[in-house]
Amino acid sequence: MKPFSYERARSPAEAAALAAKAPATSRFIAGGTNLLDLMKLQIETPAHLIDVNGLSLDKIEPTAAGGLRIGALVRNTDLAADERVRRDYGVLSRALLAGASGQLRNRATTAGNLLQRTRCAYFYDVNLPCNKRTPGSGCSAIKGFSRSLAVLGGSDMCIATHPSDMAVAMRVLDAEIETVRPDGRTRTIPIADFYRLPGNTPHVETALTPAEFITAVTVPRPLGGTHIYKKIRDRASYAFALVSVAVVLQRDGTGRLAAGGLAHKPWRVAAADAALGSGTKTAAEALLAGAKPTTENAFKLVLTERAIGAVLAQAKG
Ligand SMILES: Cc1cc2nc3c(=O)[nH]c(=O)nc-3n(C[C@H](O)[C@H](O)[C@H](O)COP(=O)(O)OP(=O)(O)OC[C@H]3O[C@@H](n4cnc5c(N)ncnc54)[C@H](O)[C@@H]3O)c2cc1C
Ligand code: SF4
Repeated sequence: MKPFSYERARSPAEAAALAAKAPATSRFIAGGTNLLDLMKLQIETPAHLIDVNGLSLDKIEPTAAGGLRIGALVRNTDLAADERVRRDYGVLSRALLAGASGQLRNRATTAGNLLQRTRCAYFYDVNLPCNKRTPGSGCSAIKGFSRSLAVLGGSDMCIATHPSDMAVAMRVLDAEIETVRPDGRTRTIPIADFYRLPGNTPHVETALTPAEFITAVTVPRPLGGTHIYKKIRDRASYAFALVSVAVVLQRDGTGRLAAGGLAHKPWRVAAADAALGSGTKTAAEALLAGAKPTTENAFKLVLTERAIGAVLAQAKG
């Protein structure tokens, strides 16, 4: 591990201001469950860590609009267990519990979970080219082993997927991300605009500007309906999704659908939402329109259709 300096921030605005002194080489550390692994492998080599764990951003509070504001430091375990989340946002609770392990969820935070890096095996192998790790070096995955990688939204620079289960549920709920910038200005970013596709800059993963700090994530008022999160993976636990599906279905057959494991961001398509009432095949075709699988990951298209079929059947009891 490379040497680094360390300090504790006393407020969100101070955290952003501290990072702004050297944004390229500073990192916020929350639960550390992703960042520390990346530092040990020298994929991330920050010169300065800003510990944000002392900030009082660990509350889940009602919003004036009837939703919930989830502090950036709310641990995944606490969010999944919250009575209001379990009752009104079941898809979120279930997605969280499908991720990682009990110990990891006890440390992992809401903001850290959104910002966890890809699990592309080549990103983790510092001996091989990776445009996301070292911009301009090339992508080892495109002609390499791509079984777990993207079938939608990829580019000729990167076909990584986003690994978060929680983010898929946040996408189906239309969550918004609240931030503060180094000059103290705050803003709210709809999750639909938060994640970027890789394009020519796969190392730029979100709409956050340098040193911008996440303070909270809000979810709108409850949608009602049946909430299901279905995750398909190689092992029954402690594994990332090959494909996952988050669905909120109403009694009249209308609903919302987002998918994980398919792209650089949680994948949601308005036409797939609209097609949910028309059955599995139509919804899957709308969701997967424009897919460009490799020979190794084309199975994800079939798996996604079957996952949608399974959740629709489950919702109908
Ligand atoms: C073995 C293993 C299995 C796992 N399995 C799964 C799984 O199945 N599904 C799943 O979804 N996840 C899984 N994870 C990932 C886990 O959920 C993430 O590591 C965790 O959510 C990251 O949260 P953290 O608070 O520890 O983030 P950290 O590691 O502290 O930070 C992650 C990133 O977020 C940045 N950051 C943190 N807080 C803020 C903030 N407030 N504002 C701006 N930037 C911030 C940090 O600078 C860093 O870049 C697994 C992890 C491990 C190690
Ligand atoms: S798919 Fe993306 S993360 Fe994986 S090797 Fe290629 S550039 Fe790197």
